[in-house]
Amino acid sequence: MTNRILLSSPHMGGAEQKYIQEAFDSNWIAPLGANVDSFERELASYVGAKAASATSSGTAAIHLALDLLGVRAGDDVFCSTLTFIASANPILYLGANPVFIDSEPTTWNMSPQALQNALEEAKHNEKLPKAIVVVNLYGQSARMDEIAEICNEYRVPIVEDAAESLGSTYKGQKSGTFGTFGIYSFNGNKIITTSGGGMLVSDNEELIARSRFLATQARDPAKHYQHSVVGYNYRMSNIVAGIGRGQLEVLDERVAQKRAIFNRYEDALATIDGLEMMPELEGTFSNRWLSTFTLNPAKITITPYELIDLLDAANIEARPIWKPLHMQPLFEACKFYAHSEEAVISEQLFATGLCLPSDSKMPIDEQQKVIQLILQSLS
Ligand SMILES: *Cc1c(COP(=O)(O)O)cnc(C)c1O
Repeated sequence: MTNRILLSSPHMGGAEQKYIQEAFDSNWIAPLGANVDSFERELASYVGAKAASATSSGTAAIHLALDLLGVRAGDDVFCSTLTFIASANPILYLGANPVFIDSEPTTWNMSPQALQNALEEAKHNEKLPKAIVVVNLYGQSARMDEIAEICNEYRVPIVEDAAESLGSTYKGQKSGTFGTFGIYSFNGNKIITTSGGGMLVSDNEELIARSRFLATQARDPAKHYQHSVVGYNYRMSNIVAGIGRGQLEVLDERVAQKRAIFNRYEDALATIDGLEMMPELEGTFSNRWLSTFTLNPAKITITPYELIDLLDAANIEARPIWKPLHMQPLFEACKFYAHSEEAVISEQLFATGLCLPSDSKMPIDEQQKVIQLILQSLS
C-alpha cells in the first residue's frame, strides 16, 4: 500500500515536534495545557472568531454546539443532506430528529430554496427546528448570505460545519464564522490534522466558556466533585494541540497546494465534454480540500464506480461523492426537502460525482499518472 496515491493524508509542516517537545519538557502530558490555550487563540485569530475551544473531534464540537443551542429529545434539527455522517450523528446523540435539506447546483451545498420550504412548513406546523447544521462540502462555502437571511427570518441559529473548509473564504470572511457556532475537524484526512481533534468557534465568549465546562464533565465550582448537568469528556490533549499549532503554521501553504492540484486536474480534464469540475461560487475561495468532478451520463458512458475501479487497479484511491444522508438506512424515517419538484440535486451529484487524489504532498508526476489514466479511460 506504500505506493498508493491517496485521496488526502497527513502532511506535517515541521514545527509540530517542537510544540510536542514543549509539552514533554514541562511534563504537561494531559488534557488541556499551554499548547491547547495557544492553539485555541491562534486558530480563533486565524479565522477571525472571538473565541475557540479545542475538542477531541469535530463530531464532539458539533455535539457541544447543538447541546449549547438547547437541542433536546424530540426537537427537530435541520442538516445538509450531502455530507459525512458526522454532521448528523450528534443530532441523534441528543435524541432529536434530523430533517435533511437538499443541495443546490452552484455550490453542491444546502439549497436556500429547499431550506425556505422546510422552514415555512415547520412554522405552519408550529415546530421550528432548534438549529440548522450547514455544511461546506470539499472546501466550497454554502450560499451563506441567503441561508443566514432565511435563518434570521425564522430566528433559527446556524451551526456551520466547516470541517472540510478550514482556510476557505466567503466574500472575504473565513469559512466557519457565519453561524452562532462554527466547527472544524483535524482528523487525519482533513487539510490540517492533529491525528484526531476538532475546534468549536463562536463570537459569543460565554458560550465558548460554557462549552469548555460541558466538555470537562460539567464540573460545578466546588472543592469536591459536584455535577448538576450532564457533561462530556471532549477536550483536546496538550500533545495533540502541539501538532495543531505546527499544522496551523502551514495551513495557507496547504490551501495553495490543494488549489494547485485542483487547477492541474481542471486544466487537463475540463475540456472533456460531459466532465465538470466542482464549481467555485463567485465571491468565494475554496480550500479545494478534495478535487471532485461529475460525469454527465448522457455524454460519458463510463460510470464513476467503473472509473474508481480502474483507478484502484492502478493503486490510486478515488471515492464517490458523499452518499446523501436522507438515502442512508440509518435515516430512513427522516424528513427530506428537495431543491425543487423536478430535481433532487444531492442524488444527482451522488450518482455522477467522484473525488480524486488530492494529497497535498502528492508529487506532480503522480498526479500526471492519475490524469493520464482518467484521459485514457474516458476516451
Ligand atoms: C470530518 C468531518 C466531520 C467530523 O470530524 P471528526 O473530527 O472526524 O469527528 C464533520 N463533518 C464533516 C463534513 C466532515 O467531513
